[in-house]
Amino acid sequence: TAARRKLVVGNWKMHGSLALCREAVPALATAGNAQVEIILCPPAPFLGEVARLAAGTALASGGQDVAELASGARTGEWSAGMLAELGCRYALVGHSERRQHHYENDALIAGKARACASAGITPIVCIGESLHERESGETRQVLCNQLDWLLTTPHWRNAIIAYEPLWAIGSNRPATPELAQETHAFIRAYLASCDPAAAQQLPLLYGGSVNAANAAGILAMPDIDGVLVGGASLQIQAMQAISATA
Ligand code: PEP
Repeated sequence: TAARRKLVVGNWKMHGSLALCREAVPALATAGNAQVEIILCPPAPFLGEVARLAAGTALASGGQDVAELASGARTGEWSAGMLAELGCRYALVGHSERRQHHYENDALIAGKARACASAGITPIVCIGESLHERESGETRQVLCNQLDWLLTTPHWRNAIIAYEPLWAIGSNRPATPELAQETHAFIRAYLASCDPAAAQQLPLLYGGSVNAANAAGILAMPDIDGVLVGGASLQIQAMQAISATA
């Protein structure tokens, strides 16, 4: 609906450099407006620099991941509180690459969303089905299973959900706007069966091969409140163009 602000999230994955941070932050700091919020998620070592450069601007920053604990003996991880201390307001949680390469499951991901909420960080919880699941008609069941874990925490009402079909990520094969809309409407209806008011205001993002050429069609859909951009987010002009269409 028109009431929800559009979000454009850039996930650099394990790409980029300090030089790109210094180029991208000022360029994106002025690309957002009252209708569009831009959130940059660089690799963790660059978060301090991005947060410092973005301070006082409309550009928001986020982690690509976060631990499920507030602190502890967890070499290589960082907490939501640490992100908050830098000035980050968001964290991706449960990205498919974390699920695939780091064996993250829905219970852990729900814990990470909970840890974010405790620290005042908004989790961007990623869900989505594989090609095999889509082709065998299991998409809705898979999404419900993933959502059920998130729904175990009352904090889900303050989360953002990113629908990222695995077959569309990094494949140059985005979902059509119609298919994405249909799936988003299903997700919103499922959330509404728990809490209609919360479902109505919860931002639902689409991710998977979004670029400057296809973003407008996707963002025009009524249940799509924004996009999570991977590969194209490394191109500053693409991020500016996507934000301008949102
Ligand atoms: C992602 O990393 O979340 C993503 C959607 O990647 P891409 O835009 O490259 O498909």
